[in-house]
Amino acid sequence: MATDMTKNVIAKRIEINGIVQGVGFRPFVYNLANHFGLKGEVANTASGVYIHIEGPVAKIEFFEKDLIKKIPPLAYVVEMYSHSESLKDFTDFRIVKSKGGTAMTTLIAPDVSVCDDCLNELFDPNDRRYQYPFINCTNCGPRYTIIDDIPYDRPKTSMRHFKLCPSCQAEYGDPSNRRFHAQPNACAICGPHVTLFDNRQKKICAADSIEKAAMLLKQGFILAVKGIGGFHLAVDACNSRSVARLRNRKLREEKPFAIMSYDLESVRNYAAIESAEEKLLTSIQRPIVLLKKRTPHTISEEVAPRNKYLGVMLPYTPLHYLLLKYGFTALVMTSGNLREEPMAISNDDAFEQLADIADYFLTHNRDIYLRSDDSIVKHIAGTARFIRRSRGFTPIPIFLKHQVPSILACGAELKNTICITKGDKAFLSQHIGDLENMATYEFFKLTIAHLERILEIIPEIIACDSHPGYLSTQFAEEQQNIRKIQVQHHHAHIISCMAEHRLNGPVIGLSFDGTGYGTDGKIWGGEILVVEEKRFERVGHLSYVPMPGSTAAIKEPWRMAVSYLHDAFGQELWSLELPFLEEIEGQKLKVISEMITKGVNSPQTSSLGRLFDGVAAITGVRNRVNYEGQAAMELEMLATEKIDSIYEYEWVSDEAYQILPAPIIRGVVRDLQKGLSPSEISAKFHWTLVRLFASLCDRIRREHHLNRVVLSGGVFQNSLLLTGLIQALEKNNFQVYSHKLVPSNDGGIALGQAMVAAAVFR
Ligand code: ZN
Ligand code: ZN
Ligand code: FE
Repeated sequence: MATDMTKNVIAKRIEINGIVQGVGFRPFVYNLANHFGLKGEVANTASGVYIHIEGPVAKIEFFEKDLIKKIPPLAYVVEMYSHSESLKDFTDFRIVKSKGGTAMTTLIAPDVSVCDDCLNELFDPNDRRYQYPFINCTNCGPRYTIIDDIPYDRPKTSMRHFKLCPSCQAEYGDPSNRRFHAQPNACAICGPHVTLFDNRQKKICAADSIEKAAMLLKQGFILAVKGIGGFHLAVDACNSRSVARLRNRKLREEKPFAIMSYDLESVRNYAAIESAEEKLLTSIQRPIVLLKKRTPHTISEEVAPRNKYLGVMLPYTPLHYLLLKYGFTALVMTSGNLREEPMAISNDDAFEQLADIADYFLTHNRDIYLRSDDSIVKHIAGTARFIRRSRGFTPIPIFLKHQVPSILACGAELKNTICITKGDKAFLSQHIGDLENMATYEFFKLTIAHLERILEIIPEIIACDSHPGYLSTQFAEEQQNIRKIQVQHHHAHIISCMAEHRLNGPVIGLSFDGTGYGTDGKIWGGEILVVEEKRFERVGHLSYVPMPGSTAAIKEPWRMAVSYLHDAFGQELWSLELPFLEEIEGQKLKVISEMITKGVNSPQTSSLGRLFDGVAAITGVRNRVNYEGQAAMELEMLATEKIDSIYEYEWVSDEAYQILPAPIIRGVVRDLQKGLSPSEISAKFHWTLVRLFASLCDRIRREHHLNRVVLSGGVFQNSLLLTGLIQALEKNNFQVYSHKLVPSNDGGIALGQAMVAAAVFR
């Protein structure tokens, strides 16, 4: 057998493109070749990695199979070509210097969690990195957040200040070592260190700063902890007084806090974990996963008040592991920021921003060059859906169906991200935040400059929202000597989802969100569009109602409730004796009523998000919100599972179908007066929308001969609506497309803007 194999010696040339540099790919190939006794060489090239391999044909087959199957965790293969080559009679297998200049077009890996090999060393008293909080290797640790230029090499990272000690240097230079060319490689002798301070920047001396920090957390103190992409604020999640104090100091009334637990077993104490969720929690990206709370549990109600879910993540840095091993069920780990500003990344920033919030600071001297918030996902309808796509995922590109020009898309206003295209790839930035203050705007500009630099792009086109008031739009308008393209908000939403699925139009697009600037200057958000890359037709929408007080109506859903009731009942609404109105001052109601009838400071809206708000207020969920989408979310959480009826619905056909909210609102009020519970009303409301939109899609299918429906917009973070609509449409033989790679909310919209601009440019 062996002789047969050696007779048949061949050579192959294999080229691999994708994220294959700085992720341990060459040592992996080297070890694999040696494992099979194959000869040849491996090198980085301008676009990826090149392998020359020679040996017995059967062994090369095994080699090629394992090359795909066993790739290093951080590697991401986009294309792999394999050709026959002539034998060059290599005598061994070696890693050689880069071919074809420096690798400029290569992709940078995201920041991922500490790997199992490093974890084992971390807790091994005999290892030279025992309890060293910056342990890492080529398979793990920070990447994107510590780079300030390319190529990805130590002098271009924040590790440039740490000179490798002889032991670390030896590992770095040894191709068979897990730390071969691991740029952040370090140890306690040569690498970064943690230091504990109080909030007046006085150093706290302790034999073990991390242990001391853990003890302070146990005593109920608030700790600022420097992580990978920025600072977190931590408190013991089971200590209600501490969590309440954090809320007070952070001026964050009810928006849920994320929590972190040591392992899955700890999480099971307070949340139910399905197997798909377990995979998400333990994935190397370590996102925050929204999990259903279990009852009873010991996590403080203050962590996520009135919420069925908890945002949970597992530790992702060695420092997290060292801190959490002191027996916490969970720690609150919320972004270390003030109000809605970007979180602190430098030590100076942290002391300045957080001194009035945190009691102590656990910091270190490895700089963070680029801020990156935690990613958030929720498993809905069989797939992980991004609520926020950031750490662990950026800067992995979205791979497009064809080449596009270099475009910078500026995103919308809330949950802003930007998108830069290069060739057939679209790079969506990490989460930037709500562009409502100068600090976030600065971060927006910095992220654009940073991505342009590391991607080596000078954009030819700049795309933005058509809302004239957005800072992102104004930024685009201010740029000189560049083609500018404004993209309608809901068009961009649908195109972002089509780009993910590499779809060509036309399709039916359901674009549902809270706010987007319409082509008629009104506020859209319940839109049924027939969408092509370049253009769209608005074929249906919720009929307009006034938003009394404009943005005040977003913060105070009772205003929307009055508006919808006014639309459904006219002046009779005042005799309905609805409980939610009792809470509102009579004078205020009078003013709002007049604003509605006279159209004063009451822009017209077709937003589905606002309809959710209105129904939430009418059913008594809440009259005011503390964060965006709160009322709608709480309404969703209330819904019972079983209902057997829905509300009447109706649309009128004008230029476009106009869906009337009035019959639904009248149904809700009737049920309320009959004494139906808010849970039943919520469920009926959700299923009404499912039936309504499914049947309207059916009508549009017949008229436009379209069978594909694309779902996008922030309202699709609603599990019930997303799951229900997918089921109803698929049952009706539609092909349904929803988001899997980018958020359905405005965090994904920059991708759509870029793709529309590319189409217009073509
Ligand atoms: Zn590792
Ligand atoms: Zn060292
Ligand atoms: Fe939107």
